[in-house]
Amino acid sequence: MAMDLSADFLQRRAANFRPMTPVQFLRRAADVFPDRTAVIHGDIKYTWREHERRCRMLASALKRNGVGNGDIIAILCPNTPAMLEAHFGVPMAGAILNTLNTRLDAAAIAFILDHSETKVLIVDRQWSEVAKAALSRMKIRPFVIDIDDPYAEGGELIGNLDYEEFLKGGDSTEDVVWPADEFDAITLNYTSGTTGNPKGALYHHRGCYLNTLSQIVHHQLSSDSVYLWTLPMFHVNGWCFSWGVAAIGGTHVCLRRVLPAEIFEAIDRYGVTHMCGAPTVLGMLIEGAAKTGITLSQPVAIMTAGAAPPAPILKATEELGFMVRHVYGMTEVHGVAALCDWHRDWNSMPPEQRSKQMARQGVRTVVTDDMIVADPTTLEPLPHDGTTIGEILFRGNNGMKGYLKNPTATDEAFAGGWYRTGDLAVTHPDGYIEIKDRSKDIIISGGENISSIEIEEVVFQHPSVSYAAAVAVKDDRWGETPCVFIELKEGHEGKVTTDEMLEFCRARLAKFKLPRKFIFGPIERTSTGKVQKFKLRDKAQSA
Ligand code: ADP
Repeated sequence: MAMDLSADFLQRRAANFRPMTPVQFLRRAADVFPDRTAVIHGDIKYTWREHERRCRMLASALKRNGVGNGDIIAILCPNTPAMLEAHFGVPMAGAILNTLNTRLDAAAIAFILDHSETKVLIVDRQWSEVAKAALSRMKIRPFVIDIDDPYAEGGELIGNLDYEEFLKGGDSTEDVVWPADEFDAITLNYTSGTTGNPKGALYHHRGCYLNTLSQIVHHQLSSDSVYLWTLPMFHVNGWCFSWGVAAIGGTHVCLRRVLPAEIFEAIDRYGVTHMCGAPTVLGMLIEGAAKTGITLSQPVAIMTAGAAPPAPILKATEELGFMVRHVYGMTEVHGVAALCDWHRDWNSMPPEQRSKQMARQGVRTVVTDDMIVADPTTLEPLPHDGTTIGEILFRGNNGMKGYLKNPTATDEAFAGGWYRTGDLAVTHPDGYIEIKDRSKDIIISGGENISSIEIEEVVFQHPSVSYAAAVAVKDDRWGETPCVFIELKEGHEGKVTTDEMLEFCRARLAKFKLPRKFIFGPIERTSTGKVQKFKLRDKAQSA
């Protein structure tokens, strides 16, 4: 007979089962590394003891101002200490942190604040103008706190209170609110809306806890790590590194502006070991280094995602001395749920092949239970043949709770027991996936699928090109044909013709995939380095 393991004494109890929460990481850092530098922001420095104290004061001050369980606290702020403090202080008050994209306009901010019924808005002085305009559109005005950061440029104080004054109203010894259940909400992240209206993805403590640990494993952070904030912290909670650096007791280096000169300077000055950024950030570093002749003083690991990184960009980034980690994910799965996990023997590949290998989105992370490329209708896995295209599906413990106030979109996103990414990919025989497109961006010409990413990869190989985006244009005969927007490197503007680009593509692409139109000029991107292809499609159509 099987042993009886159902007895009461073997069940969960306070000592062996506690709700997982990334907020715990801060307490540990303060206990273990109290005097180590936790946060650097220009001349401002906080140790882990001080940082924890400030977070606890924020939590207490929020509670004393009537903030309670489930209230939404929004923050409009670049990568500064206040943003880090909000990642701990807000959940420590039992509230939910809503990080706002700093590139949004007043209408979008007002929409999000209204939709989320935000109770308190914390705003950096530099963003006061857009915040003021957003507030004037709101139905119910939240309590507004100004962050008067000494490094903010311009702006005015528009709030009810100054952030530092607000903190003083809190008591750092007051009890912290721990989640009653690990599936309780901790943050709210509105999608950047590249394919439609922004939706508010609600995260849970458990998912953030697990994904933070996963990020540490895959980006290989340790207590000696110095993390530079080149990724906007408002985007998916900085891919969980807002909590992750506390988990290892490393050091945060804040950065208000993502500019190559400031990045290279910070790396050198603070001994940065880790950072993250979209492929556009990699492109910026490459161009910045080429202009100034700057080299890295020590190797830095950079995690990249957000869009498919072209192989030439990966190669050039490695040549600068960065160690690139290519990951893949989306807002709904805490930013990162897959990575191109590297095999040591791939190091001996010739550079071109190596960067192509690295450009694949790869395999599931340690906390993603399953990732498959499946038939979008039957959800059956497709063959690992490197050619059959299907939709990428995820399931595991790092998915959002759902979209705030949006049951229909939530049910659609999780239909069939999987998170439906809407990204199209193939699986190679070794099990590594490679994205071909987003289902909404694929170009269908004469009934054939054309991957916009494949066209971009080819255009990128041209030595004068710094950025490319391929989209579909309606065509009477073919249904759709490809059009490519091209941004040329500085000094190359006006020197490349449409004919030259066409010849370049003809030598490298099948005839049916050849772009019919090239549009040269700057390509507008979102703050997270993404191209909003629906906007480009409209532009291409009317060009
Ligand atoms: P939004 O969906 O609002 O643009 P996200 O930041 O969540 O905001 O975007 C996620 C999408 O970005 C993915 O669904 C995918 O299309 C794209 N993406 C992210 N990382 C990669 C990557 N490594 N390679 C290719 N595409 C990526």
